[in-house]
Amino acid sequence: MNRFDLRPDPSGGFDFLVDGRFLRELVFEGEDMQECEVSLLRRGLPSGVAREQIRRLKGELPGQFFPERVWLYFCEECYDEGCGGISARVQVGSERVVWSDFRHDSPSDTDDEAAHFDDEDAIPAVGTLVFDRVEYEAALDRVAEQLGRSFVAFWRSTDALNQATLGLERVVSRRQLRKRSPDPREGLQWTVNGRPLARLLSDAAGTLSRTGPGLQSDLRFSVVQECRDSSAEVGRNAIRLLLGEGTWEELPGRVPLLVGEGLDVACGSITAHVDRLDSIVVWSGFRVHGAGPEGDGHPYDRKLTFTFDRRQHDETLRRVVERI
Ligand SMILES: [Zn+2]
Repeated sequence: MNRFDLRPDPSGGFDFLVDGRFLRELVFEGEDMQECEVSLLRRGLPSGVAREQIRRLKGELPGQFFPERVWLYFCEECYDEGCGGISARVQVGSERVVWSDFRHDSPSDTDDEAAHFDDEDAIPAVGTLVFDRVEYEAALDRVAEQLGRSFVAFWRSTDALNQATLGLERVVSRRQLRKRSPDPREGLQWTVNGRPLARLLSDAAGTLSRTGPGLQSDLRFSVVQECRDSSAEVGRNAIRLLLGEGTWEELPGRVPLLVGEGLDVACGSITAHVDRLDSIVVWSGFRVHGAGPEGDGHPYDRKLTFTFDRRQHDETLRRVVERI
């Protein structure tokens, strides 16, 4: 039996989480994910589209072309089957739901499923998946409820499934208030929904392997600070990377976010993988790196991701970059 859940993915929709992994990553293994088809469980589509898709997945409506075959991933430009996508056989039993026979699909010109597919359409990397029906339906119902919420409730909610607000704020600790002049290194801190990122990461440190937890406790300073020395350039570079300008040569696709007291990335850092999409920016795959060239670093729980509204994310960063 496989575990079933749904989570927001870097495409901005909800993807199926199978045994803790995004199904989309399994189906499109090794491909450029930004080019790959996406699920219909998302905002911004005509009303009813996501709801109907959920009913198909529950077996309440027949599949798009063949009754037991439900399309899972669609063209991310137009969501039309005409552009091709991925379908699977979905069988809803009284206690189990079985997904099998994953294939690349296109609109059918025949009533005969066997005649419609070639062997090369098959996706052997994903075998047969068996889910508990209660767990499966509960996860789909949660997403239906999320997608059905009003726009205002959506923005006010701090639910982990929704988009977060990024801040880079001057946070002064009590210890600093007792000092005459605040330490410039502690001036700016990343915040997510108003909570310091350093604290969110330290709360999540329990999932780090081996030496990770010890390493991360020193890495609590934002790489972006207002001090006017050589470290200012490092901060500006991090902001450029977050804005999609250029690539970090050390770890392409990643951005250093938190560093140690010396504000030196080479002495250790916490990095995230940053995906910039049409309307959202996703920070995921957080890792702790020790000093020097340390390769992959220590990963946090992969469920630790933040999805920001792209405009809010970028405006926050541009405001700061003008100041430093
Ligand atoms: Zn299309």
